[in-house]
Amino acid sequence: MMPLQSFDPVKDSDYLMTTQGSDKPEEACGVFGVYAPESSLEVAKLTYFGLYALQHRGQESAGITTLSKGDVYCHKDMGLVSQVFNEKILEQLPGEVAIGHTRYSTTGSSLKENAQPFVLDSRLGKMALAHNGNLVNAAELRQYLIQKKTNFVTSTDSEMIALTIVDEVNQGKDWIQGAMSAFERCKGAYSLTIATPEGLMGVRDQNGIRPLVIGVLSEDNGGKDRYVLSSETCGLDIIGAEYLREVEPGELVWITDSGLTSINFAKQVQKKLCVFEMVYFARPDSVVHDETLYSYRVRLGRQLARESFVDADLVIGVPDSGVPAAIGFSRESGLSYGEGLIKNRYVGRTFIQPTQNMREAGIRMKLNTLKDALQGKRIIIVDDSIVRGTTSKKIVQTIRDAGATEVHMRISSPPVTHPCFYGIDTDNQDQLIAATKSVEEIKERIGVDSLAYLSWQGMLETTQENTNHFCSACFTGDYPVSIPDDIKRSKLMLEGKKVKV
Ligand code: SF4
Repeated sequence: MMPLQSFDPVKDSDYLMTTQGSDKPEEACGVFGVYAPESSLEVAKLTYFGLYALQHRGQESAGITTLSKGDVYCHKDMGLVSQVFNEKILEQLPGEVAIGHTRYSTTGSSLKENAQPFVLDSRLGKMALAHNGNLVNAAELRQYLIQKKTNFVTSTDSEMIALTIVDEVNQGKDWIQGAMSAFERCKGAYSLTIATPEGLMGVRDQNGIRPLVIGVLSEDNGGKDRYVLSSETCGLDIIGAEYLREVEPGELVWITDSGLTSINFAKQVQKKLCVFEMVYFARPDSVVHDETLYSYRVRLGRQLARESFVDADLVIGVPDSGVPAAIGFSRESGLSYGEGLIKNRYVGRTFIQPTQNMREAGIRMKLNTLKDALQGKRIIIVDDSIVRGTTSKKIVQTIRDAGATEVHMRISSPPVTHPCFYGIDTDNQDQLIAATKSVEEIKERIGVDSLAYLSWQGMLETTQENTNHFCSACFTGDYPVSIPDDIKRSKLMLEGKKVKV
């Protein structure tokens, strides 16, 4: 067990040095799909741009699979979308249908073999699958597949979904019946794009924990409208596709040359969209519930100001994700908003890691202060979340070093007290600072003059939707899909002990 005070050389390095690991929860994956037979659309290139827009959802590996008259072409590798693909590679991915994936590993190691899409053979031809989410019954599913003498290539739950579909198809079912039977065995979070020789599937689990949207792409030459699937609407915007609607929880959309068919495969549907997608993960320009998440996050800041006003000279946000809430806080409180921290936008994922000595010397590759904006001022710094607290502490120290006379921190979500089992890496419970420390103790630990979090009610009511339609388990421990004991033990280190909230 790692003590909370310890310095983690990989995860702690984000603020100071790189984007390799961070003190924020890590998104699991982004998925994308295009179906465009008999058209001039280059499906691999469209998927490349879609993945480019979904890069924030996974930065470890990227992959595209295309299907062309039954033949399958696939390229995937470790790295960012722009590192994995170039013109030449995309030219070697012909086809009428394509799916793509950006990955951050939440099950299975960060290895090339675990990169997606997965391609499997079946009696109906080859299929490819891309998955965002986490199954909570992967061990049970693995046992089931072992009994069936299935060969695994990877260590991921995503491959198990694909293998289960193929197993059902090989027993004589068609693609739809095979997929529906497979989903009866899958528990947890899954948003999927699946390419088959007959069509493209988009699927969302019965709780709709991870997002998935449908778009329509019109060809300039007046050709047929074509459907696009994407984790977020920003993946549609980048290729000029028009947003149609969300894939609903428990819905399978089957896109073929006859158009789009909707099939409800789940017996019990319960809307439970991850509220952290709204607060932090999804891009601010993505649309959820008919508005951009930027607008929601500005309202979170307004609510935060109503709940925890403090007088100050300047409100600043932690770039980029804390900025909309900082603007909202400023608008509601009437306090001035300004920039105080500058993010180096060209810090990509680097494999050259700084030495411990360099970190201690205070090298700041990712964030730097605007000293003249902060000097002699009482500062309110707004961020979207605190997970382990290591980054917050360093940001506060940097602001003080720049000459701020007071530093007050405001967080536009409640304390994160529980880990996620549905496809977000929020660390084990013992590594979440709010799981073991009170707000007052965290305030002392990160060295601020005052600290306040947004209330749980404030966060949910600000969605302006039915508050029961969200998963907020990492703030409450109230998991919408029950967690089997074996995986609970692996992450809920404090289960049974007193948890401070
Ligand atoms: S536990 Fe938290 S991060 Fe995970 S799905 Fe629920 S709200 Fe999202």
